[in-house]
Formats: sequence, C-alpha cells, structure tokens
Amino acid sequence: MRKNLGMKKMHCKKNDLRDHIPFYLYESVTEEEAEEIERHVVECEECQEDMALWLTLLEQKQTARP
Ligand SMILES: [Zn+2]
Repeated sequence: MRKNLGMKKMHCKKNDLRDHIPFYLYESVTEEEAEEIERHVVECEECQEDMALWLTLLEQKQTARP
C-alpha cells in the first residue's frame, strides 16, 4: 500500500489512474488508457512525481545487473 508520507497534501482525484502509472511505464495498458494517463499526468503534479519515481525505480532495476 502506498503511504502518504506527509510531505505535501495529496489532491489527486484519479487514484485509480495513478495506480496504473507503473503499468503504463511497462506498456501493459491499452492505448486508450495510455492516452488517459498522459492527459492526466500533464496536469497533475502528484502523478508527475509518481511517474518520476517509477521511472527512477525502473532505471535502477535496469542498471542493477548481476
Ligand atoms: Zn493525479
């Protein structure tokens, strides 16, 4: 479960969409869902931060090779 770390107030009203961000980054959403996410993220700071976080995580995974 994602915790609100209390750094700032959370106003995102699209929590279900937010949860799809990692799937979006893994390209496991439909084209329609991807468009919806893209449209929302450009106007939602929280989701932008979320996406940046996920991207960092994904990059770390990709660079961390055995
Ligand atoms: Zn949002």
